[in-house]
Amino acid sequence: DLISKREKINIEDIAKTSAAFVLNGTKISFTVEAEPSLFSVYADTAQLYRVFQNILMNARQAMQDTGTIKISLQNLTNHGEIKNLKKGNYVCITITDSGPGIPEEYIDKIFDPFFTMKREGKGLGLSIVKNIIEKMEGKIEVESKVGIGTTFRIYIPASEDI
Ligand code: ADP
Ligand code: MG
Repeated sequence: DLISKREKINIEDIAKTSAAFVLNGTKISFTVEAEPSLFSVYADTAQLYRVFQNILMNARQAMQDTGTIKISLQNLTNHGEIKNLKKGNYVCITITDSGPGIPEEYIDKIFDPFFTMKREGKGLGLSIVKNIIEKMEGKIEVESKVGIGTTFRIYIPASEDI
């Protein structure tokens, strides 16, 4: 599991498949929008599935099976304006839910291992996500407003096409 396979991945496909799977049987509607000709990404497909599944499952639980989720995929070039991220090309994934949001006092804790606000939570989902993204030399950020919703933004390094 520590060894990652690198293959050319179709993020749009992974996003759609993950959302259909995780949100199946709920009243959550979702959209996946991708900019045409996204940069290529070479990564481990199974790890990317895990990233989407953990984030979408949290959204589903927070929204109690009702609301909307928007996933968007965009090309982005970091010229140095994005902190803690090397310069270069990235695919930027944003996942926005219409859930209850995360209170400000907890926002810095949600990526910590074993931080959970759920009675039977393990608190590992987001720490695993962060690990996967950082091993890829990407970055994950969160923005949230109580009563409005939560957005996760993930930057994944693009690869030169071989
Ligand atoms: P777990 O799901 O086991 O609690 P996670 O690491 O997946 O652990 O998430 C940590 C905490 O972050 C959750 O318990 C929840 O309080 C908060 N959280 C994560 N995603 C969302 C979201 N989309 N909306 C509201 N709260 C969230
Ligand atoms: Mg979770």
